[in-house]
Amino acid sequence: MDTGGKDEASLAKVRVCVRFRPLLPGEEGGSRITWDEDNAPRVYVAPGRSDAKTFEFDRVFQPSTSQPEVFQGAGLENFLDAVMEGYHATVFAYGQTGSGKTHTMEGFVYQAVPGKAPQVKPGSTPSESLGLVPRSIEGLFRRMESKAETDSEQLFTLRLSFLQIYNERIFDLLNPVHLSGATTAAAGLRLRWNSREAAVSVENLFVFECRTPEEALGYYKAGVRNRTVASHQMNQASSRSHSVLMLTVERRSGGERLEHSAKLTLVDLAGSERQAATGASGRTLQESVGINQSLFVLRKVITSLAKKSASKSGSFAFVPYRESKLTVLLRDAIGGSGYTLMLACLSTLEASFEESLSTLHYACTAGSIRNRPAVNLDPMSQLVRRLRQEVQSLKGQLEAA
Ligand code: ADP
Ligand code: MG
Repeated sequence: MDTGGKDEASLAKVRVCVRFRPLLPGEEGGSRITWDEDNAPRVYVAPGRSDAKTFEFDRVFQPSTSQPEVFQGAGLENFLDAVMEGYHATVFAYGQTGSGKTHTMEGFVYQAVPGKAPQVKPGSTPSESLGLVPRSIEGLFRRMESKAETDSEQLFTLRLSFLQIYNERIFDLLNPVHLSGATTAAAGLRLRWNSREAAVSVENLFVFECRTPEEALGYYKAGVRNRTVASHQMNQASSRSHSVLMLTVERRSGGERLEHSAKLTLVDLAGSERQAATGASGRTLQESVGINQSLFVLRKVITSLAKKSASKSGSFAFVPYRESKLTVLLRDAIGGSGYTLMLACLSTLEASFEESLSTLHYACTAGSIRNRPAVNLDPMSQLVRRLRQEVQSLKGQLEAA
């Protein structure tokens, strides 16, 4: 798969795209951060000054870029193909609050309801505006259908889960108990090593098998709505939570035998801005510390993986995955055995200059990380395959004797 260049056959670089959002009515942009007018994938900081900097990425999307163009240009089709072949893939949107992460991932049109959380109105979002998540859901189903048509022996299933990490606790966005604020759920869900899948999974997380894109989109919208409801009712700031949608595609063939299982994870990260300690009190301050923990560790992970990739010997480097819930959950997603796409969101607002610069810095660092993609074959399938080969070779020896 071409995800933006491989320097060795087995390595794939983390793909990094930058998206500038348009200025909203009443906003005024500065000129210290600009893109290349000729569409080269570069971002210029403080051009013409002695401290000028140029950053290079895989793609840079100017403010006028539409949602379908971002989907195409970011290479999402390749990521979906990889998932169908059995590779994990992760897409995450990074940037400060208000930089366009949720617009890029969801793209839904919200409607204000007085005294209530804003609602996603069914059917009110024109398809042109839909973000990367609805497009990916649709793209995966299209692939599953066309593969099943060409080979009726192959059977695909898609399972969906949707969670939120808030204040270092994991909540199920599709489990009503988690929205009620009930004390039983307040502690959040636990992460557990799953030896069958050789991966970390979230204990008791609801998993829904979806038969149509509409069904999957329905769950996704319900989760999105629950995220806004939670932020209203439970006093959570949605800008401080990470939302993680997991779409698992399983391929079975020759009856019911599982061949491989691959996950597409789509993450809308919390705002990357430093939380000001002043003005935040009690719970809020604690929350901001919590949120910083996951993002703080994510940045540390990015930095140490980039160092590791840069060292010729591929020498041992400590990568602090275990220091936050987010990075434990996304362990395989970055620096692991899957493909990764980072979408760095920003604007030209002068007031956001420092944060935008920080976003560009981490995006650029992430771009030097190399993953080692591998197909997630089912362990049982692998065993059966190996035993078959052994039987074949023993048969051959017997016949030859
Ligand atoms: P974030 O999730 O990073 O906090 P949002 O996605 O909510 O940011 O975007 C902030 C505001 O900017 C929203 O009103 C959103 O509709 C608008 N916006 C963001 N990106 C775009 C875009 N590409 N085109 C039009 N409006 C956008
Ligand atoms: Mg958002």
